[in-house]
Formats: sequence, structure tokens, C-alpha cells
Amino acid sequence: MKITKIQNRNVVFTFHTDFDQNVHLIKGTTYNFIIDTGLGQACMEPVLDYLGTDSKPIIVVNTHHHWDHIWGNGSFRNPILVSHRLCRELIQEKWDEMLGKYGQYSMGKVVQVLPTLVFENELYFPEDRVRLFYTPGHTIDSISVWDEEEHVLNVGDNIGDSADAIVPSIYTSKEIYKDTILKYRDVEANTWVSGHNGICEKEVLERILAELN
Ligand SMILES: [Zn+2]
Repeated sequence: MKITKIQNRNVVFTFHTDFDQNVHLIKGTTYNFIIDTGLGQACMEPVLDYLGTDSKPIIVVNTHHHWDHIWGNGSFRNPILVSHRLCRELIQEKWDEMLGKYGQYSMGKVVQVLPTLVFENELYFPEDRVRLFYTPGHTIDSISVWDEEEHVLNVGDNIGDSADAIVPSIYTSKEIYKDTILKYRDVEANTWVSGHNGICEKEVLERILAELN
């Protein structure tokens, strides 16, 4: 497991198996935000260790319903667990299928815990200047998390898994995905975090658009 610190309050934890899996922590002033819970509860242990005695309430975010972003959801007692409305529905619908197909990748305990707070378009935490907004593309339930203070954006799996595969698997349509990439152009972020790739800069959008055309 590798820890990458971005500025003061953003930290990315990368777990390595057949692929890299990122979990992203934003240490806000009111809340600590944990973005995606990885492959099981073992992915949350180092994040909680990192927080140590910091007892601010935790907001857990699922960027989308895919197994590798939700299997650690069971690590929290009475969590505020935020996602898009469709994400909650899809986790319920696909849970057994995903566990059957990819169970060999689990790290630690995997327990189904559904999002407790869902939104459609946008959710804003003004004290922390953290904005969650709907960005369908990779999947229909994909959201992004924007730290407006440190200009860091987490796009879930809307950036592909490696430099060679910069366009991810698209489970919606190319048009929907492209609309989201164009919308990202208006986001003033310097650091782009995604589910599996390394840290990127904004120019990644132009590389994606070039490949889409
Ligand atoms: Zn995914």
C-alpha cells in the first residue's frame, strides 16, 4: 500500500493487486471525507489509522456502485454514506453478481452497507468547500468530488485505468461520457484523482477527447 499526500489535506491510498485501487481522503475542517472504500474492510484500516485521534465525523462517499469502490462500506458504525440515488439501487441489484464474479479480489471483510444519503445533481459541504456532483459516463451513477479549496478533483472511474487506457470502460454511451468530460473542462482543479490511474493533471481531458474523436 502506498500513501500519496497532495498538498495539506488530500491523501491517496493505493492498494495493489492485479490492478491499483485508490482510496482518497480529504481532511476537511468539519468533516473527514473518505472517497471510495476499496476492496473490503482491510482497505479502510490504514485510512482510519492515518486519521488516528482525529475524531471529526466521517462522510463516506461511493463514486459509483462497482464492487471495487464499495466493498469496504461495512467499516463504519452508523456512517453517513453518500452516493448518487442510482448507486444505492445498483448496489442492491448487483451485489450478489459482483461478489460472485470478483470475490477473489476482496481484502478483508466484505459486508453490504448501502448509501444512507443520496442525491440527484449536486451536494455541497460549504464549511469544507467540498462539492459532490453528478458526472455520468463510466456508469450511469458516477459522481465526482471536488475539493474547491485545494483544487483537487476525484472523478471515480471517469479516467481510465492506465496511460494506455485513458478512456475507461463506458457503460452508458459515448455521448453521455463525452458530455461529462466537456463539463470537467470548467472545473478549476490542478490535481485529478481517479479510481485506478495515477495522479493526473487537467491535460488528461484533452488526451481523452482526442481518443474519443
Ligand atoms: Zn468502475
